[in-house]
Amino acid sequence: MERISGAEFVKSLAAVHTENNPQLEGDYFDEDGLLRCGTCRQPKRSRIEVSGEEIIVPVWCECRKKAADAEKKQTAAALAASRQWELRKLSLMDSALSEVRFSSADERENSASIGMCRRYSDLFPQMMRENRGLLLFGSVGTGKTFTAACIANALLEQGVPVVMTSLVKLIDGGSDELCSRMSAIDLLILDDLGAERSTDYALEKVYNVVDSRYRAGLPVIYTTNLTLEELKHPADIRLARIYDRVLERCFPVEFRGVSHRKTAARQGFEEMKALLGGDEGG
Ligand SMILES: [Zn+2]
Repeated sequence: MERISGAEFVKSLAAVHTENNPQLEGDYFDEDGLLRCGTCRQPKRSRIEVSGEEIIVPVWCECRKKAADAEKKQTAAALAASRQWELRKLSLMDSALSEVRFSSADERENSASIGMCRRYSDLFPQMMRENRGLLLFGSVGTGKTFTAACIANALLEQGVPVVMTSLVKLIDGGSDELCSRMSAIDLLILDDLGAERSTDYALEKVYNVVDSRYRAGLPVIYTTNLTLEELKHPADIRLARIYDRVLERCFPVEFRGVSHRKTAARQGFEEMKALLGGDEGG
């Protein structure tokens, strides 16, 4: 067996590292004959003794350290960006909702409820650990879906895997593979609970999704136009076991007020009236 001495080993190592730390324009030799950086004036070489032999090894000057740090940060940022892109692709979110943020939420009507949802996203690691979900309920167009999407986007930005879809889409278009993925994702947001068809087939699938999350101990956020009363005492007895699971794990957050869609429509009407020179009520 060939044996190499410690000094030989260090020399070969130093040679490799010197290639990555070469003499650059402006670098100079100091009074000890060691190479120094022309920019930060720190040493780029050092003398060490191995088994009585003196060896010159490369060392990092301030510039080289900074460059390595920047490189590391760049790599980390690129990794985070590609992970976010990947997560967003997998999130199944409507592209129209991908831009909404808590900072752009209109808090005039539901400030307390929106605040609770914001804190939920801040406390998500704990919420997930304790398997606590939310039930955003209230009439159509009060901002439930918008607010749920704000939670989704806040978490996606932190690299948390989130899927936001509706039970209708999941049941009509979802493969079994997709449904099984639903049981493993960190946060599942199911929009419009109660809108699915009430066939035995559909309800069985709904129950399977809800129950798989329940058994996996992972949280769900639901939005629904149903009232709490309708969830607690469903007219259709087949729904009771689904809603029981929902109510057991999800904290109800009410959204009230005039429908945003109605307000928007009304604003459009006012604008038209002004444009056309209507003088009603002026
Ligand atoms: Zn330097």
